Amino acid sequence: MKLILLGAPGAGKGTQATKIAERYGIVHISTGDIFRANIKNGTEIGLLAKSYTDSGKLVPDEVTVAIVKDRLTWDDCKNGYLLDGFPRNLYQAEALDTFANIDGVVNINIDPNLLMDRLCGRRVCRECGESYHVSTLNGVTTCARCGGELYQRKDDNPETVGERLAVYNEQTAPLIDYYGKKGLILNFTGSEAPADVLFGEIVKVLDKLQ
Ligand code: AMP
Repeated sequence: MKLILLGAPGAGKGTQATKIAERYGIVHISTGDIFRANIKNGTEIGLLAKSYTDSGKLVPDEVTVAIVKDRLTWDDCKNGYLLDGFPRNLYQAEALDTFANIDGVVNINIDPNLLMDRLCGRRVCRECGESYHVSTLNGVTTCARCGGELYQRKDDNPETVGERLAVYNEQTAPLIDYYGKKGLILNFTGSEAPADVLFGEIVKVLDKLQ
């Protein structure tokens, strides 16, 4: 199964992506994770990407598309993959069409009023990527799942979140229509539902797609 996960920043894509990839034995490819790993390791791509990710802007399309195009040739993609955070605009979607055949696009809709608080209060595990909200942690600083250290992403601050949401509305949201016209959109509501409930809904639909 070859899937795309769409949704605003803070919609819960990362959490669902991990669960979906595990259940269907497909690889989770997050372009945001790829950029963060490159920045951490000080690679050439990392040096280029840093100013964009720090300010909430998109890394240039040619760079991002080349990374994904290469990543999809790896052996672990043979059973399928889930793209999380890619494509982010029409240029990337059209490029993807030239080297991939997507089976479905999971679109998580969420009340936009929830996003600023969700993202600015988010804490992420350095080891496994699990997300938490500071309001439920009661001062705990380690991951309940793997014991890893929790941290706040540099771009989870009000100013950068504002920019990321604007970029989503202007550039990424039109992809709902793009994939809708191709008959690929699978719509879900992520607002207040616990992650497991939403995952149950997604599974019901993806099981039929297999
Ligand atoms: P994310 O983890 O998906 O929220 O992505 C974090 C940041 O990485 C974004 O704000 C962008 O700066 C960059 N990024 C991730 N995916 C893409 C993409 N498909 N195109 C361009 N930039 C991206």
